[in-house]
Amino acid sequence: MQNSLRYTKLFGKSLRESPADETSINAKLLIKSGFISKHMAGAFNILPLGLRVIAKISTIVREEMNKIDGQEVLMTVLQPKELWEETGRWSKLKGAMYQMKDSSGKDVGLGFTHEEPMISIARTRAQSYKDLPIYLYQIQSKFRDEPRARSGLIRGREFMMKDLYSFTTSKAELDKYYEVVGKAYKKVYERMGLNTVYTEAAGGVFTKDNTHEFQVLTEGGEDTIFYCDGKGCGFAENKEIARVSSGDKCQKCAKTGHDETIKEARGIEVGNIFRFGDVMTKQMGFTFKDKDGQDKPVFLGSYGIGITRSMAAIVETHNDEKGIIWPESVAPFQIHLINIGEGKVKDEANKNFEELTKEGKEVLYDDREVSAGVKLSDADLIGIPERWVVSEKTLKENSVEVKKRSEKDSKLVKISSL
Ligand code: ATP
Ligand code: MG
Repeated sequence: MQNSLRYTKLFGKSLRESPADETSINAKLLIKSGFISKHMAGAFNILPLGLRVIAKISTIVREEMNKIDGQEVLMTVLQPKELWEETGRWSKLKGAMYQMKDSSGKDVGLGFTHEEPMISIARTRAQSYKDLPIYLYQIQSKFRDEPRARSGLIRGREFMMKDLYSFTTSKAELDKYYEVVGKAYKKVYERMGLNTVYTEAAGGVFTKDNTHEFQVLTEGGEDTIFYCDGKGCGFAENKEIARVSSGDKCQKCAKTGHDETIKEARGIEVGNIFRFGDVMTKQMGFTFKDKDGQDKPVFLGSYGIGITRSMAAIVETHNDEKGIIWPESVAPFQIHLINIGEGKVKDEANKNFEELTKEGKEVLYDDREVSAGVKLSDADLIGIPERWVVSEKTLKENSVEVKKRSEKDSKLVKISSL
């Protein structure tokens, strides 16, 4: 990936109008500003600007997964029916998983999640307690035949997920790693500028334990969350399983003598962690020989992060009426350089662009011959954290006008000090 780019060369320039058929903030802004394009309902193409954001999000996720001993793999999207029949999920997922016949009449499916395939590779290579624990993750496209794909990147039929799987020798070890992953997730979201609420949610058909979701509280969310924002409380439940309602007294706070009220908000689930225990591994015959010579079932944990959905959540929570306001950590470029004027002004902007590029800065340089208004409004729309303007006025002062996208005011900065 190039550090820097001239806007004249960029594929995926801003559109003058928002797409008429999109209602979500993330789809409207990401399509208008040239990060993604819609292919069909629930399926979006990622354009060069968008791929830079995805790459940054993925790097953050990889760094944090590697820190907790995750090893990256890449599993196949294509799935044989037989494997999914071992757990009974082939028929359970009918209508949700893409399932079809290939040209030889064999049943195949597209990866919906990867518990079965991960167990299938782990069980062939781990027979002894010495081979465990195993922590494998991947970043890959997942396919789900979602009936309500209408919130842009929040709910796709094809979308990117990071999925991590832990194989441990006991429930206690699983519980311990589950906590480790929860902490790593918190860090992942913080690094990408997302405030998440650790929310209790339903376990689904395969887990006895409740699961936990990482919810970004925002209007554009599809879930409903009941939570308490009392200091140090942290109580939060997804409405699906909630035993409380908004306006109730927070029972957790009451125990410590505090008087707090449960609130209600919409949320985007950007991550979800599960303890599958030994249910699926037993169904699939994944056992190991323990120190005492006994064959015992392996314990499975499964941990997902929506990569494209996180990108959507960032946009939903970082915007104003003019466009996106990217957090630095995931912004496609760090500096949006603009020349307003030709001749000497353009020469100076060119020089700045070349020098910044040489220094390794990530610069998008709007070198088009269009009006100042168009350039400035496109800069606001695209949302790069810092805007540098070179004009007659700044040239007179031997300066550049620097403005943060997240702030109102700009300042003149002497070129010599930059
Ligand atoms: P939801 O309840 O929103 O349908 P889920 O609980 O079925 O999602 P998981 O199986 O837990 O999703 O998947 C892990 C993560 O992948 C989710 O937390 C979410 O961030 C992301 N994800 C799931 N489904 C989609 C989708 N259709 N489009 C985009 N991201 C998704
Ligand atoms: Mg979920």
